[in-house]
Amino acid sequence: MSKILIVEDESAIADLERDYLELSGFEVDIENSGISGLDAAIHKDYNLVVLDLMLPEMDGYEVCRRIREEKDIPILMVSAKKDDIDKIRGLGLGADDYMTKPFSPSELVARVKAHLARYERLVGTNPKSINDIVEIRGIRIDKTARRVYVDGEEKVFTTKEFDLLTFLAENPNHVFTKEELFREIWDMESIGDIATVTVHIKKIREKIEKNSTKPEYIETIWGVGYRFKV
Ligand code: CA
Repeated sequence: MSKILIVEDESAIADLERDYLELSGFEVDIENSGISGLDAAIHKDYNLVVLDLMLPEMDGYEVCRRIREEKDIPILMVSAKKDDIDKIRGLGLGADDYMTKPFSPSELVARVKAHLARYERLVGTNPKSINDIVEIRGIRIDKTARRVYVDGEEKVFTTKEFDLLTFLAENPNHVFTKEELFREIWDMESIGDIATVTVHIKKIREKIEKNSTKPEYIETIWGVGYRFKV
């Protein structure tokens, strides 16, 4: 269930807003000052804030600005004066919507629903990734999920191919000899065959390069080794 925070010092208005939002299935809390509203918005888990402009202790402009520094939840600003809306816009506070009092409660509910739906779409298609990602031009390496995408298309890599590509991509423009790469990725200097590196580079190129004979990413430095170009 979505949780809404109403920051409003006039209790009659706050109660009316809450009643309508609760009737629509939302869970609602009310804070009646700027400071307590800001504190709740930042420290509790709300999906949307309905924020009055004229508030005791700290006005809605400042509350909005400070919430935005911490959170990207939708903020619907409410004001008694039409002129304020231009000011809110002009200040670029990051509010998502503005309503002037008096408004009909059903209009409030409709706007709250629209902003929640929009926000969920946004978050759904563009999740804040907690994964460790290396991204260079069209190549996206998700180190956490151990997946590689080339121009948005996933390519399948073996463990060593993945490790080698990631190592090169994380150290771009640095030339590594085959010996160095072998030591780094295979970690068994004495029994290894550095030709393995060449084989793996070839396999990686087949997956990431449009034309493996003219590589755009992993460049061969003749007589030295390889380098990931940026
Ligand atoms: Ca007020």
